[in-house]
Amino acid sequence: MQTGKINVHTENIFPIIKKFLYSDHEIFLRELVSNAVDASQKLKTLGSTGEFAGELGELRVDVRIDAEKKTLTISDRGIGMTAEEIDKYINQIAFSGAEEFVEKYKDRPEANAIIGHFGLGFYSSFMVASKVEILSRSYKTDAVAARWECDGSPEFTLEEGVREERGTDIVLHIHEDSAEFLEPSRISNLLNKYCKFLPVAVYFEDKQINNTQPAWTRKPADLQAEDYEKFYEELYPFAEKPLFHIHLNVDYPFNLTGILYFPKMQRNFEVQKNKIQLYCNQVFVTDSVEGIVPEFLTLLHGVIDSPDIPLNVSRSYLQSDANVKKISSHITKKVADKLEELFKNNREDYQSKWNDVKLFIQYGMLSDEKFAEKAPKFNLFQDVKGVYHTAEEIQEKLRPLQTDKDGNLIVLYASNKEDQHGFIEAASERGYEVLLMDSALDAHMLNMLESKWEKTRFVRVDADTPDKLIVKDEPVVSKLSEEEQDKLRKIVEEQGKSGFSVQLEPMSETDLPVLITRPEFMRRMKDMSALGGPNAFMRDMPESLNLVVNTNHPLAGRILTEGNPEEQARLIQQATDLALLSQNLLKGEELTRFIRRSAGQLI
Ligand code: ADP
Repeated sequence: MQTGKINVHTENIFPIIKKFLYSDHEIFLRELVSNAVDASQKLKTLGSTGEFAGELGELRVDVRIDAEKKTLTISDRGIGMTAEEIDKYINQIAFSGAEEFVEKYKDRPEANAIIGHFGLGFYSSFMVASKVEILSRSYKTDAVAARWECDGSPEFTLEEGVREERGTDIVLHIHEDSAEFLEPSRISNLLNKYCKFLPVAVYFEDKQINNTQPAWTRKPADLQAEDYEKFYEELYPFAEKPLFHIHLNVDYPFNLTGILYFPKMQRNFEVQKNKIQLYCNQVFVTDSVEGIVPEFLTLLHGVIDSPDIPLNVSRSYLQSDANVKKISSHITKKVADKLEELFKNNREDYQSKWNDVKLFIQYGMLSDEKFAEKAPKFNLFQDVKGVYHTAEEIQEKLRPLQTDKDGNLIVLYASNKEDQHGFIEAASERGYEVLLMDSALDAHMLNMLESKWEKTRFVRVDADTPDKLIVKDEPVVSKLSEEEQDKLRKIVEEQGKSGFSVQLEPMSETDLPVLITRPEFMRRMKDMSALGGPNAFMRDMPESLNLVVNTNHPLAGRILTEGNPEEQARLIQQATDLALLSQNLLKGEELTRFIRRSAGQLI
């Protein structure tokens, strides 16, 4: 029997490990099970190269709880270790690495986060165990079993042991502080979290807990649409079916596989954010991928597996890592390519899913320059009739009729088909197209598009009277003289409702006598302030509304010739209320009064 001191300089390193890993104790199981899986796979490799000529048999990993002895055991039938190997791999190397690491980070505030992703490997077992035994027998012919034991102090014992078969048992004598790890439900949950897709069968209580060949590790050519859907269900058991998927497969200049899914977008982004799971050779690492993929991609679901993402570092380091940057832009490109392909191959199907991907695409365009460059190929605009257009198509279509006298393309839009119905009708009657821009991000989109499209302005249909939405060189003549107009303005200002700025416009006789318009600029500032940001203070400012009197409507003449001021006031009031009503702006008491007044006129 050999006894000795583990090769460390710090007097007792275990308390330090325990302290630092406080929040992430549970990862010991991931570390031990993946060591067991590695040992099994190494043996398989030796078998295929001929270095191991024996029977492989069933390569499996078993996790067992012994409630009486208070032990948790992880067993494998892999390559095993000789006493020399234990001395070399466990006593020397692994631990000196850990020591160096802990020394370096112990005073840093982010130590917890960093260390959680650092594979402390085998030694992480001391976070939960007061004593650990290794009983191992190497695959080599004539190897004798070896037994190692350590109680958390730097002293260990290493002696000959008894094990009939090839492989390794790691026996953890669970510390009383960590009794939770003797509960079957806790272990089962952990295995399900970290080991669900390990490549070697893992058994707990005689039940296999993993799928050794998850979809992302297989060739796209071998998979059907149902396989992708089934895998999605495996990842998110109760979620709605995804819209489509992207199978990632890169081997140069870095290694990465994975499947990303487009879920149906929820109104509330937060609930579906951060569902992507990150794996390292099929071992679960984290489901928080911020910093690894661009913000807007965290709305997607699925799996990314890469041995090349450095996991033993802080998030701020991750963001500046060159590999991570490449991975990030690669995924962005793949996502854009896939959307373009879906659009090109089956436009109808793509359009039918548009409402579910729209927010994702807009979010991407607004937040990621690279994505914004590619997006015009698959970003769509829906008009109020339900027809979809690309940017190029819509520009082409609008140019003849919707270019103003200064050569600006005027894109008309509505943000609410119901409330702005009257204005949409009036614009349509003039042959204009009206886009429907009713998403939460459209206010920001407009600003971006105006900066990208040449000589283009977006104008909401209620921003002005129908004829002035697109100013051309064909003024409509007013039936009223200047003098009459001045007089009319005064009457309306004095007798009409307060809170509006009054304007006179010669419109068509068939247009309404009075219109309420909302100037584009102020309204848009207010819309954006509702989404927060630098203009948030505008949120509580009153809306700026214009009351526009149609000087060509017969009512204008009637008000002028009416001698009774009370009757003038009534006419203006009624026409104003009709305008408000047509835009769903007449509410509460004013609406009640309007209805009573109108009903009174019926008798
Ligand atoms: P890492 O796995 O990162 O190398 P560990 O501390 O987990 O670090 O393990 C150190 C070494 O001990 C491994 O590289 C491996 O050679 C050996 N080892 C650990 N567990 C087993 C096992 N179950 N079977 C065979 N060898 C093992």
